[in-house]
Amino acid sequence: MGDGNSVTSPAPDQTGDYPNSGSPAALDASKLKITLAKTLKPLEPIETLCFGQTFSDHMVVATHDPEKGWSAPEIKPYGPITLDPQCSCFQYGGNIFEGMKAYLGPDDKIRLFRPDMNMRRLERSCARLALPPIDGDAVLELIKCLVNIDKRWIPKESGYSLYIRPTVIGTRPGLGLTASDHAMLYVIASPAGPYFAKPISLLAVSENVRAWPGGTGGHKVAGNYSPGFLPQRTAAEKGYDQILWLFGDDRRVTEAGVMNFFVVVKRDDEDGVDLVTAPLDGTILPGVTRASCLALASDPEFHKEISMRLHPQEMVYTMSDLATWSSEGKLLEALAIGTVAIVGPCHRIGYEGKDIVIPGDGLGPVGTAIRKKILDIQEGRTEWKGWGVVCN
Ligand SMILES: *Cc1c(COP(=O)(O)O)cnc(C)c1O
Repeated sequence: MGDGNSVTSPAPDQTGDYPNSGSPAALDASKLKITLAKTLKPLEPIETLCFGQTFSDHMVVATHDPEKGWSAPEIKPYGPITLDPQCSCFQYGGNIFEGMKAYLGPDDKIRLFRPDMNMRRLERSCARLALPPIDGDAVLELIKCLVNIDKRWIPKESGYSLYIRPTVIGTRPGLGLTASDHAMLYVIASPAGPYFAKPISLLAVSENVRAWPGGTGGHKVAGNYSPGFLPQRTAAEKGYDQILWLFGDDRRVTEAGVMNFFVVVKRDDEDGVDLVTAPLDGTILPGVTRASCLALASDPEFHKEISMRLHPQEMVYTMSDLATWSSEGKLLEALAIGTVAIVGPCHRIGYEGKDIVIPGDGLGPVGTAIRKKILDIQEGRTEWKGWGVVCN
């Protein structure tokens, strides 16, 4: 499809570098060019929605080259992109992405949930892979336009949303092992159904690690994900839904699959419960949902609403801590947390041939209260600290 997305290779100078004269343009949402699709696709009935399988009518595209900087962004019909096979993204994986959702409230307004956090994370991910700098605020403006144009793709039903996948790929031509000074931004959107609160099982593994100090685990970079597919398949063969990733000889608990992980632990002083999660030491993805759970857990206003006292604890904890809390009857809930699931329950954790069983057969009181609060904010039923951002 010759639709103008192809990347052409500028001539390198004698040193093999690409001259960078003048100052390259920043991404500028006010230069947006909109080309609407001539025919719109039929909507997928919500009953048959399968995560990430159906895409809306349009997408955002912008490209960066080292001389001109960011191109005028476009919203155009969803479709294939054409890239030179020598582009660095295919060889060296210089790709980063974000995951966020647009929700349609009962007031017919479109809302994003704390999108600034996604945009700052997108900027950090680009920086970590030495991709060209990108202005997240401009990306957010483009996303707001896209969700308005594709509003009919946001299901009205509670729990449903339009999942948005902003992506930046390195498109530097040539096989030279060097940072990509060429890039493409694209944003695609896919209607998504609710994640039913069916408890999942986790297999704690230590023979593979997801992330390590000084690595890239704290960034949403593409290369973090495919190394998890094989261990995930092995866990599935053993009858577990997801992996509980551990780190270090002391078997620290880090994340569950591609979600942050929390446990609810009874306190000795009977003053409410501890909400425990691993600290952001570079091995943990700084989730928007994680930050929101911690913020709610430290908010007296929220405690009053749910008549419960929560104590957020960002701390190193190990499999042996989990086993001890479980044997003492203190392990009340285990929660997998992220944009897709919001808050999902875990009912058992396989470790060294045995299962740690978490009581109950669904979300417990803490998971239920946090999930409901976040969903109410996302769908605009409640105003909370500016977390729900209206896009119309
Ligand atoms: C995206 C992601 C999360 C969740 O982050 P949210 O911003 O809450 O969606 C957690 N862990 C990993 C590894 C992730 O990629």
